[in-house]
Amino acid sequence: MTKGYFGQFGGQFVPELLYPALYELEKGFEAIKKDKSFQQEYQRLLSDFAGRPTSLYFARNTSEYLGFKVYFKREDLVNGGSHKLNNALGQALLAKYLGKKFIVTETAAGMHGVATTMAANVVGLECKVFMGVKDIARQKLNAEKIQLLGGVVVPVTRGAGILKDAVSEAEVSWIRDLRNTHYLIGSAVGPHPFPAIVAYFQRVIGEEAKKQIFEKEGKLPKAVIACGSGGSNALGIYQAFLMNKEIGLSFVEGEESAAFKHGSIGIFQGTKTYVLQDEFGMDRKTSSRAAGLNYPARGPQLAYLYSIGRVKAYTASDKNVLEAYTKMANLEGLLPAFETCHAIVELFKRKGKYKPDDVVILNFSGRGDKDIDTAIKLC
Ligand SMILES: *Cc1c(COP(=O)(O)O)cnc(C)c1O
Repeated sequence: MTKGYFGQFGGQFVPELLYPALYELEKGFEAIKKDKSFQQEYQRLLSDFAGRPTSLYFARNTSEYLGFKVYFKREDLVNGGSHKLNNALGQALLAKYLGKKFIVTETAAGMHGVATTMAANVVGLECKVFMGVKDIARQKLNAEKIQLLGGVVVPVTRGAGILKDAVSEAEVSWIRDLRNTHYLIGSAVGPHPFPAIVAYFQRVIGEEAKKQIFEKEGKLPKAVIACGSGGSNALGIYQAFLMNKEIGLSFVEGEESAAFKHGSIGIFQGTKTYVLQDEFGMDRKTSSRAAGLNYPARGPQLAYLYSIGRVKAYTASDKNVLEAYTKMANLEGLLPAFETCHAIVELFKRKGKYKPDDVVILNFSGRGDKDIDTAIKLC
């Protein structure tokens, strides 16, 4: 496999002036993997600050309703309310290791912006968060949280004022001061080495889940279901189960932003992958209500796993997502993020499809407090 590629996917489709920064990042990434004090500090922050390990929760009511055993990997319990902090802490430490002073990033639902501001504070770096104006409006709580935490929210009006536009603006800001700035990307997307770095810092999810399911059930699951766009929470849990070919790995994207279902292979934001594009290779409009899934491309590693059939892709529509939100609230007393609800929609569709003793793990990627306003308006 060529460096930075997963099959034909990945690579570094960036302006030449970015190569030195990506090279520096790659060297730093290789170094911290073997650096004992880095690893110790990362583990300390994961356990004492983020609250890991997160529980693997036997969802009894959901299990009874569906006719098989359902476990939730509770990433909603991570400090900040989603899996995003695992990656944010790792990359903030990496930025510090590289001697950077500033963090720039993008956010959509705001979960990554909150997590990155928290991580920057912990490590002692300044943080600027680019956020589309449309997302600021629908995820007001998180935009305000970032500011309360001392981060700077920069509203992005270009394009559609959504995630991909925020990514573009954050990149511009990064390029202006490569020496002192780290671009802390929020998902397993972008040019090499970003997808590898994000997957590395998220793999703790699957490592814990595999150990926990052995302790609780003494066997592996039949299926693992995760939602996503770039695929950071999905890869985070899949990696531990990739080698066990009999385990079905299911990925659920938004019907309104379905790059696997409706897209094709192209180049987007520095990487070769599946993207929703028009006949000129420009990205098409997406309109998922889950801001965190409203991205027209998938990450390259996820694209590869999908292309070889190891990961199967499904979609969930905004309408079904709302139903899943209230159903999960009533059934389990949990409010999932709209993003997470996509995985839950697929889970519910499998009612009666497994044997009573079969185990299915759902990656419960985040909590839904941020979506309450929208849910109240629509339910
Ligand atoms: C950001 C986010 C996602 C989607 O991002 P991935 O990188 O694809 O995992 C899913 N769920 C929640 C709760 C999120 O915050």
